[in-house]
Amino acid sequence: MKKISLLLLTCCVAVGAFAQNHKTKNVIIVTLDGFRWQELYRGADSALINSPYTQDKDEVHKKYWTADVHQRRKLLMPFIWSVIGVQGQLYGNRDLGNKDEVANQYHFSYPGYNEIFTGFPDVRMNTNDPIINPNMNVLEFLNKQKGFENKVAVFSSWERFPQILNVNRSGLLVNSGYMDFTAPDANDHLKYLNRLQHEAPYYLGDSTRIDFLTYEFAHEYLMQYKPRVLYIAFDETDDMAHAGMYKFYLDRANQEDGFIKQLWDYVQSDPQYKDNTTLIITCDHGRGDVPMDKWRDHGSDVLHSEQTWFAVIGPDTQPKGEINTPTVTYHKQLAQTIAELLGFDFKAAAGHGVGDPIKTVYTK
Ligand SMILES: [Zn+2]
Repeated sequence: MKKISLLLLTCCVAVGAFAQNHKTKNVIIVTLDGFRWQELYRGADSALINSPYTQDKDEVHKKYWTADVHQRRKLLMPFIWSVIGVQGQLYGNRDLGNKDEVANQYHFSYPGYNEIFTGFPDVRMNTNDPIINPNMNVLEFLNKQKGFENKVAVFSSWERFPQILNVNRSGLLVNSGYMDFTAPDANDHLKYLNRLQHEAPYYLGDSTRIDFLTYEFAHEYLMQYKPRVLYIAFDETDDMAHAGMYKFYLDRANQEDGFIKQLWDYVQSDPQYKDNTTLIITCDHGRGDVPMDKWRDHGSDVLHSEQTWFAVIGPDTQPKGEINTPTVTYHKQLAQTIAELLGFDFKAAAGHGVGDPIKTVYTK
């Protein structure tokens, strides 16, 4: 009898290694392409407001400037600072000595998104061209788990995600660029968005969708189909920075903060999602900061563009606000962190290297 009990106990411990009893049943991930930690943690930059990169200086000043840094960043990202800053965790404020970075050496989008979702900063992922990603990603892995089948969805502004997430192999629902949403049972709002997106101005070119449309598709999808895992990839912060338009860079970040608030308000008002959904917000790379003009750029030759951030809120995340420990987290750790929040071991199944989870996200 003792032997049997011991055997049972051993089995339970082995199985229990990943049945961690987290409260998280759903995960929503949102990325703001190339949005800097500098603006997230310090708010609008006075040197950039006073530079030729800002037209409408009075308006920007009025909307986003105040001398106190805590007030200033809250003007820019009110949801992040009034809700996540109090109830969640924020990583990567270098002014407090906490660092968050991409581990890949390239510091641009495809390598950045590859790193987040595969956990593997593969040196072969060194282009933004439509190459097919051979590596398994955590969304694909989750979509195969019991209770998650066809409950994982991706909506992105940038058109490159079908390749990054290898839809031909993964079978994930990835709605990217100006793709219509064609499910036969789609509600009237989704059908209307299919029409609207082709009528709105294509100011990011013919392929990359404007963020508000991506948001509307994702929000409607969330309400109708109730996915367990939803990823929304915004793009415009990066586009506005490359264009050297600081006002629009700030405006887009501010608008996206508002979208994230709407998502969270919905999540916390819906019985399926309330108090069992973790929201993770991050970016794919940083940007330069010295000299100041480098705010427009990023890449392996742009100093400090590996510097990033992420924010998290959910039922398993202690309300520590800004993390001020002298630690470094890497985006290659996010995939396993997401898997573990949901009670799964992506690392064991990936078939390639995967960064260790960031345990402070879910430890009591
Ligand atoms: Zn860029």
